Amino acid sequence: MAAEESTGAASEAAPLPRLDEIVSLCARRGFIWQSSEIYGGINGFWDYGPLGVELKNNWKALWWQRVVRERDDVEGIDSSIIAHPRTWEASGHVEHFSDPLVDCRACKKRVRADQLDDVGPCPARQGTSEHDWTPARNFNLMLRTQVGAQEDAASTAFLRAETCQSIFLDFKRVRESARQKLPFGIAQIGKAFRNEINPRNFTFRSREFEQAELEFFVHPGEREKWFAHWLAQRLEFYRALGFQDDRLRVRPHRPDELAHYARAASDIEFRFPFGWQEIEGIHDRGDWDLHRHSEYSGKDLSITDEDSKERYTPMVIEASAGVDRGCLALLCNAYAEEKLPDGETRSVLRLPPLLAPIQVAVLPLAKKLAEPAIALAAALRQRFAVFYDDSGNIGRRYRRQDEVGTPFCVTIDFESAADGKVTVRERDSMEQQRVPTDGLRAFLADRLERSR
Ligand code: ATP
Repeated sequence: MAAEESTGAASEAAPLPRLDEIVSLCARRGFIWQSSEIYGGINGFWDYGPLGVELKNNWKALWWQRVVRERDDVEGIDSSIIAHPRTWEASGHVEHFSDPLVDCRACKKRVRADQLDDVGPCPARQGTSEHDWTPARNFNLMLRTQVGAQEDAASTAFLRAETCQSIFLDFKRVRESARQKLPFGIAQIGKAFRNEINPRNFTFRSREFEQAELEFFVHPGEREKWFAHWLAQRLEFYRALGFQDDRLRVRPHRPDELAHYARAASDIEFRFPFGWQEIEGIHDRGDWDLHRHSEYSGKDLSITDEDSKERYTPMVIEASAGVDRGCLALLCNAYAEEKLPDGETRSVLRLPPLLAPIQVAVLPLAKKLAEPAIALAAALRQRFAVFYDDSGNIGRRYRRQDEVGTPFCVTIDFESAADGKVTVRERDSMEQQRVPTDGLRAFLADRLERSR
């Protein structure tokens, strides 16, 4: 659950963009904006636009590739968002999943008791600007809904607060149907909902968000080994996305921070413009979840080792990533303002080419060249995410692509018909080279593959 957000200032090493620069870029260029904007927005909910959904899908596809497809010891699932309500009693969420909440009796402001420093003065009291806080009380963060036509206690259900619980419910079915032996894992990506008291920092703390979670089931004697394995794997994932050491760190939980069932936990943190914050948690959850679901469902979820005949409840090592936080970190990490030799400034998103929402922009030098350029774009679309643009001067069109992170711009000019070549301009170096049109697809595929 929500630990206090650090406001630790960014270190000197690399300049980070301001959060408002990212928020404004995201809205202007169609990555992310507030949900229900035309009604004034709804706090804690976000919409991903045409470029945002591509970025997010690419992030999820890469995660799935690394965590599920490239391994023979991990299976994927896609479970329902609403589970049997007993699930959340067994998991401890009904009882424990809460944050301390206080109200100001004067101005009615409602905030988390551990975030009082950020609230500002009370606008409603005479002679003082101090708030008149009530004592803290626990506020359960799960969102409720009703299932079926009956509106009584028996029909109350919860929108899941984490995606992993259904992995535990499906453990036996997956193990048997996929014929897996321990150690093995189950992964899923999906929506989760938390009625956060103070959603903030753009998509960082939302009420509806996506998680990508892996639960890896191991023998009790192998917990440390697999914890270290998954921590290393997940760090490697973020490094490959271009997160350097001055923006990525591991923060082991102090013993007093650990969830009551956890033996060990480490946060993978990114240095956001608002300080170091968690993007993923690696947790040793022990046998808490399977044990509790066995108890509450009456179904035995222990296993028998085929060779040793030992019977035990597996231990669980979890890697729990936030998709939205991962994408926000990507955007913050990629954004740069650069002074160019001609004195102009350009904004550029240095996204990993494989994750860029647009991989190739096709830009005819003049409108007269539209016909062959449209045909080229159509051919490239079968393999890449392509954007076609023939309006405005070429410099401005390059800038527009730099700003959304397009790694390659392909320009057709008046020579192209004669020499059978196009110009490929690379985002980061801004270098241009002539490439034969009939080898273009292979050239781009090779460049994208090399960026993996
Ligand atoms: P925090 O302490 O920041 O609230 P948490 O420790 O409660 O996070 P977990 O329950 O471990 O988070 O969830 C795993 C991941 O899900 C987090 O690392 C984060 O990336 C993501 N996540 C959790 N809560 C939110 C939220 N309200 N909005 C967006 N992402 C979230």
